[in-house]
Amino acid sequence: MRVNASTIPFATALVATLACGTPPDFYVHGAGVIVDTDAPFARRPDFPERLEGVLSVALDYWGGDWRHIQGRTITFSAGPYVACGGSDRAIGCFDGDVRVATSEPVTGSLPCVEETVLIHEIGHAVIGDRTHEDPRWMQFEPVEDALDGRVGYTADGEVACLIYVSVWRHPLHAQ
Ligand SMILES: [Zn+2]
Repeated sequence: MRVNASTIPFATALVATLACGTPPDFYVHGAGVIVDTDAPFARRPDFPERLEGVLSVALDYWGGDWRHIQGRTITFSAGPYVACGGSDRAIGCFDGDVRVATSEPVTGSLPCVEETVLIHEIGHAVIGDRTHEDPRWMQFEPVEDALDGRVGYTADGEVACLIYVSVWRHPLHAQ
């Protein structure tokens, strides 16, 4: 094949797309969202809107804004674990992009996005702090108040979305 100036950028763009893997299902303020789960909450038509609301609350809590998630990918993964660093037993991960598990080992699919560890991982996107030194890793009550009392979803219908702030917490100074 004759290589000329117009084919090179095309080939480069193609390689970049393949390297990044799955294209996002939708975008929220410049963040690509990948729905890689059958959890009913993530398949709802209103999921993008609900996710935007949760992200807004999380960014407020951490003192961030939409720029902190712009250009990042947020993946909602099937199953109770995501790979993170050297572990394959994490429930969420921030390594420049965000991945969160959407089920729980015993009860199965989480009924709502608010029950995932998204709030925690957005914290890393805003303040970094890999070693969890900031006291806010243990003080999620304002977020709980903002997100309390929402509807969750199972394959059989609506249930309560029950927030346990302990899921978002991380003991200080521990990795
Ligand atoms: Zn963390």
